[in-house]
Amino acid sequence: MAGASPPAGLAPLVARLPKDVTGIFTTRWGGCSTGPYAELNLAAAVGDDPAAVGANRAAIASWLGVDGVHFGRQVHGATVHVVGADPPGAEVTPTCDALVTNRPGVALGVLVADCVPVLLADPVAGVVAAAHAGRRGLVAGVLARCVAAMAAYGSEPTAVVAAIGPAVGGCCYEVPADLQAQVAGWVPQSVSTTRWGTPSLDLPRTAVTVLRGLGVRQVHREAVCTAEDERFYSYRRSGVTGRFAGVVVRR
Ligand SMILES: [Zn+2]
Repeated sequence: MAGASPPAGLAPLVARLPKDVTGIFTTRWGGCSTGPYAELNLAAAVGDDPAAVGANRAAIASWLGVDGVHFGRQVHGATVHVVGADPPGAEVTPTCDALVTNRPGVALGVLVADCVPVLLADPVAGVVAAAHAGRRGLVAGVLARCVAAMAAYGSEPTAVVAAIGPAVGGCCYEVPADLQAQVAGWVPQSVSTTRWGTPSLDLPRTAVTVLRGLGVRQVHREAVCTAEDERFYSYRRSGVTGRFAGVVVRR
């Protein structure tokens, strides 16, 4: 990494969630991956050394005080997987872009490098969720499906607190004008302009708008653009790179 000096140890951003829930957004620093994946890459399918990814995942689990973190095989879709009491790795990794659980001590994670990581917690019903909400997932309805899956465990949207993590901003997420218009037809607030004056989409703002439309009143957004902030992996900035994670667990 040119021009950046990693601090020692893990220093995740701590999400603003209810007090019996821990949510974090990891940075790229503090792990053992090297090269374009340096340092805390948590994704197994991006070409990094599997042993390094395993050690990095173990470090995050240790930091959180859990046995491991459940991750799905993400496909930019809207499928939600409900996680029970199985330890991470005990089941075949599900294909999904959101994970939900009502089990305390079960940590759920999503992997991102510009897409929007969304952590959800309902402290009343005792349900938490993590969603991978990129452009395609948002349009496919991943957040609506996620809130609906939480409702199956007695969650009311009005009781849900949402934390939106670091993602590419409208300042940098340039898209063709026709694609911008297509998404704007669904969520007008998605429309933005890059710093260099071309059509773009503001995916974090889109996620906020969608969540509010679903009845979620408390939505906190990290004001970080991954394409500009070198603490985070960015596919737009780097191409071949790692993935950081949003992780949530109820105590
Ligand atoms: Zn930006």
